[in-house]
Amino acid sequence: MAGRIPHTFIDELMTRVDIVEVIDSRVPLKKAGREYTACCPFHNEKTPSFTVSPNKQFYHCFGCGEHGTAVGFLMEYEHMSFPEAIEELARQVGLEVPYEGPTHAEPQQRQRNDNLYELLAQSDRYYRRQLRQHPQGPRAVDYLKQRGLSGEIAAEFGLGFAPPGWDNLQREQGTNAERQDQLVTAGMLIRKDDGKSYDRFRDRIMFPIRDRRGRTIAFGGRILPDTQDAAQGSTSAAGGTTAGMQEVEQSGRKLPRKPGAAKYLNSPETPLFHKGQELYGLYEARQALRDIPRLLVVEGYMDVVALAQFGIRYAVATLGTATTQEHLNRLFRITPEVVFCFDGDRAGRDAAWRALNNALPIMREGRQIRFMFLPEGDDPDTRVRAVEKIGFEADIETALNFSDFFFQHLGKLADTHSIDGRAQLVEQARPLLKLLPPGVFRHMMTEQLARLARIEPAELETLLARAGQSVAAGKATQGHKRPTARHQGPKPLSPVRMALMRLLYRPELAQAAGAPQRFTQLDIPGVNLLVEVLEILQENPKLNSSALLERWRGTENGSHLEKLASWQPEVATTESLEQEFSGALAQLDQQRLEHRYDFLLARSNQGELTPEEKRELQELFATLNRDKRQNAVKNRE
Ligand SMILES: [Zn+2]
Repeated sequence: MAGRIPHTFIDELMTRVDIVEVIDSRVPLKKAGREYTACCPFHNEKTPSFTVSPNKQFYHCFGCGEHGTAVGFLMEYEHMSFPEAIEELARQVGLEVPYEGPTHAEPQQRQRNDNLYELLAQSDRYYRRQLRQHPQGPRAVDYLKQRGLSGEIAAEFGLGFAPPGWDNLQREQGTNAERQDQLVTAGMLIRKDDGKSYDRFRDRIMFPIRDRRGRTIAFGGRILPDTQDAAQGSTSAAGGTTAGMQEVEQSGRKLPRKPGAAKYLNSPETPLFHKGQELYGLYEARQALRDIPRLLVVEGYMDVVALAQFGIRYAVATLGTATTQEHLNRLFRITPEVVFCFDGDRAGRDAAWRALNNALPIMREGRQIRFMFLPEGDDPDTRVRAVEKIGFEADIETALNFSDFFFQHLGKLADTHSIDGRAQLVEQARPLLKLLPPGVFRHMMTEQLARLARIEPAELETLLARAGQSVAAGKATQGHKRPTARHQGPKPLSPVRMALMRLLYRPELAQAAGAPQRFTQLDIPGVNLLVEVLEILQENPKLNSSALLERWRGTENGSHLEKLASWQPEVATTESLEQEFSGALAQLDQQRLEHRYDFLLARSNQGELTPEEKRELQELFATLNRDKRQNAVKNRE
């Protein structure tokens, strides 16, 4: 490792680099007002919603929500690591990157992660070797063959074998205490209370889970049936499993479950593996196909591999979670169409409805989601073996599109032949349609609802709008007494968010903020981040937004700040920005004084005030009353 890149260098680099140039050389941009636009390189679209702000040195896509600095763009677009992106930018502006010794937390973290990747790569090789060499390996090979998998497909997906026993991997990889710790962190070993550890995966077929760069970041393990179970497998499943059993079984129900062991086991969440983001098979699909016109989302890894075996190379699986919006945003960056594949039974329908609900906030024109239901008793693995590629793709063609499934499902709950039923339909659909982002797609869904409910679209729009207002008004009343400035979006903007947004748009504002430390006594979300941002900007008056954002790269606060940096004013005069910023700080000051006043008052009631504190209390009383009077006057105006 080369060591740490100092902040001062990144600050300097970010003031020299022009994000417009960086992006334009890769994705040609068009000037539009103060911004530049293009069709988004991260999702599929026909009209540009990707904007680059030269002022903020920040890009943002209104379609898929991707955003970031020039560094972030290179990391995302070119799949560079952070140091690679810094090197690339430095090269462009003719600077040399100075490295410091790895003394700080950040490079240590990176070093640790590098170690974990290496360790998982070794584990991956170990499991593959066991498939070929372990005396029990042939059991696993037989199982894979029996599922119709060829050696090529098994190799392509890197399938391996974790032999039976408690410490095979531990003995092979965990050769010292440090490596054992790392294996625990990587989710490969489980540590007991007494400090001893053992292999997480035992006697299982191993499926490496790879990230977008093809690195193994976790594993899925499928239980291996005993030889004798396998022989009677197909009969026992046909012999009527109970409903509860079927839920556990998921796919591949031709083979019975080993008592006491889960059929599928995944790595836990680790520093490298986040279930809500990763999709099994996505890396392999991108390797196999140049263009991906659609992606099929199935339930298990075995389904993905079996479909690949039959030439359907575009299947992915979530890893023991429902599909998240993050998953979907990732998929839509690669393809315009996502088809969910579910079992045809009641549980499958329910799961599909949940998937639809999760997808509502990210649905917009240009993104198609469809729902496919397999014949009851089938899963993708058994189905594709029965009907092969042609038959399976014919099944996909019959998948319901988003709006058909949406209205079909709601229509089942309400009888659209009666007035009551139609009113009920509108009631049910209303909160769901509100979740759709505004745009053509939402408009089309609303029109279809109007047709089904037999009311005028305009009337329906009013109904929908009214529902939204009452929700927003309800929220606003529990917030601050003084109304904040008007703003877009349903949530009232807290003064902390307002201040941060204006600062990220115009960092110079920090110079007029006074001493930031005074806000630390406020116990409200985000206030410490605001204090930190103000302090950094006051110490470094020349810092621009992107340099500021780089200070928080990879942290939770960093992603908060990036979201706030996406704010784009319609008009931004210096005065309006200053006013909004100082207004937000004034609100915080007010809260601070009220807070202090309440505190002193409580103590004064117990007779515990020093003469100084008494004076302070009186002054606060006067100040707060004066502010109240002024506000009353303002509100009357
Ligand atoms: Zn986009």
